[in-house]
Amino acid sequence: MLADNTLLYKFVVDKFEEIADAIGMDDSIRTILSQPKNELIVNFPVKLVSGKYKMFKGYRIQHNNIMGPYKGGIRYHQDVRLDEIKALAMLMTIKCALINIPLGGAKGGVKFNPSDYTPEELNRITRRFTVALGNNISPSHDIPAPDMGTNAQTMVAMMDTYMNLSGFDRHNTIGVVTGKPVECGGTLGRESSTGFGVVICIEEWAKYNRVDIKNMTFSVQGFGNVGSWAAIGLHNLGGKLVAVSDHSGVLIDRDGIDPHDLKEYVNENRRIEGYRGNTSTARDDFFAEKVDIMIPAALENQIDKDEAMIMDCKLVAEGANGPTTPAGEKILLDKNVDIIPDVLANAGGVTVSYFEWVQNRKSEIWDEHEVHIKLQQKLTKAFARALEYSQYEKVDMRTACYALALERIQSIYRQRGIFP
Ligand code: NAD
Repeated sequence: MLADNTLLYKFVVDKFEEIADAIGMDDSIRTILSQPKNELIVNFPVKLVSGKYKMFKGYRIQHNNIMGPYKGGIRYHQDVRLDEIKALAMLMTIKCALINIPLGGAKGGVKFNPSDYTPEELNRITRRFTVALGNNISPSHDIPAPDMGTNAQTMVAMMDTYMNLSGFDRHNTIGVVTGKPVECGGTLGRESSTGFGVVICIEEWAKYNRVDIKNMTFSVQGFGNVGSWAAIGLHNLGGKLVAVSDHSGVLIDRDGIDPHDLKEYVNENRRIEGYRGNTSTARDDFFAEKVDIMIPAALENQIDKDEAMIMDCKLVAEGANGPTTPAGEKILLDKNVDIIPDVLANAGGVTVSYFEWVQNRKSEIWDEHEVHIKLQQKLTKAFARALEYSQYEKVDMRTACYALALERIQSIYRQRGIFP
């Protein structure tokens, strides 16, 4: 049975409270971090191609900006809710602090199913949402990025709208969003960065455990931006993709699935269903498939008790945000399954977003190799620190990542104090 997806906020806040206790966080700092600084809800009209008007509900949650401007993705999905976005914004604060980039945590979303709308309607929705956000976003205040249901095209529409409202200073506003197309101020390497970041973390795990990724089997839930690039990255290292699932079904092939070929199919069909006529709809088949590495890269709360019980793998590398419930995590850890938590495994996306923002501010263009090397340095360093902490303190990796991030934020608050 699928876990209740309204519980993500509770799970994230409970974990925050647990770690705040464990590191002896000052009450004053805990009070600040336990809720977002700003919660914005906007309702805006859009004229559809039929000529009818429809109202849309959008959110932007700015959790914390002690480390730098708010930063986080924009999600388009029919299940977007205030408490979900609040949870995801808090995870962004923790992620940026863990990786040690000078950015804070935010998240946003619009509640609708993007596949029900034409590209022209999506463009209008994005532009009206950007107008509704107004000065709540800016290159030095809050910088959106892509997430589920959004992509480089969404980001360039946001940027163009924002720029056109910015008067003579417009060219200083190119960094208002990241994840833009490369020709329009995006960075090389951003599109693949979250998935490749998952793979960099898996390589570090493999080095530590002295195992070879070559010939290891793996499965991926969600074959969108994160899932497809993670699959391609692991496949390029010799891993064998044997199971994939998405909103349309499950695909299993013990002989191996070519992720390049599947990506081409999904780009055309927007679903895995029908690929080589092979998909089924049995969700449990996907989780029960024996693999070395499982990568959840779809929605939150996908691995609860039932799924964890039937899973047979050595590692879960969380490409998605919040894919494992606390009950699911306990079962996996009891079964000696290692977990690379979301705040580390999928941090490649925000890290390369940061690189894009830096290039925009300095009017520079870095080559892809430079971006990848810098990404590797950031993630391997964070992985090593989290591993060391987890071994020294005898705690799991999620606990270690939260503790390192919260200790960093606490130290900044202690030095700065609060105004006035
Ligand atoms: P996406 O929209 O590109 O892809 C989402 C995938 O999930 C699709 O393949 C879709 O079919 C699948 N999916 C949707 N509902 C499903 C269901 N019920 N069961 C199985 N699969 C389902 O989204 P994305 O950008 O790849 O994001 C995926 C996850 O990664 C999200 O949790 C997101 O927050 C997280 N994430 C994304 C980025 C990024 O840079 N895009 C960065 C960090 C974290």
